[in-house]
Amino acid sequence: MKWKTHQVVTLATAFLVTKSAVNVCFAFLGSTFPDVIERNSGQEITFKNHRQLSHWFVIYTGFGLAVWIFSHYLEPHQSELSTLIEALYYFIYGCINHLFLDALNGSIPGINPKNHKKRWGKNIIKKDLFEFVFLLSFVLLSCIIYKLKRYNILYYLV
Ligand SMILES: [Zn+2]
Repeated sequence: MKWKTHQVVTLATAFLVTKSAVNVCFAFLGSTFPDVIERNSGQEITFKNHRQLSHWFVIYTGFGLAVWIFSHYLEPHQSELSTLIEALYYFIYGCINHLFLDALNGSIPGINPKNHKKRWGKNIIKKDLFEFVFLLSFVLLSCIIYKLKRYNILYYLV
């Protein structure tokens, strides 16, 4: 999947949840982080150097758990740190959203990252046109949800 798709989908969903520019920026950074840390730029993309440990969900959920545990040791007056912690949650959200989208466009490591036979995902989005249609429909759905939230229509529907 293209980075633009990862970035736009993550931005659209992060904007629905938060109004904080810092959180949205951290989600944006996380949206491509798993690919950035693969360290395969300039090389031909192969199965061995793409979507391996960098795309293992346990790393990101473990980091999120560590941040959550750390946040419980904060004093109430440490508001700068709580802002950073919230931003880190959005960064992790961006990373996990990246993994989810990659699973729609191939496979990512499952429970055991070394077991290549039990990877997660299906190659549902095979062509650029379908990826564009997916992206467009996702952004339109986000806009509709945003409008429904803004005018409290969701409140009356639920
Ligand atoms: Zn990826």
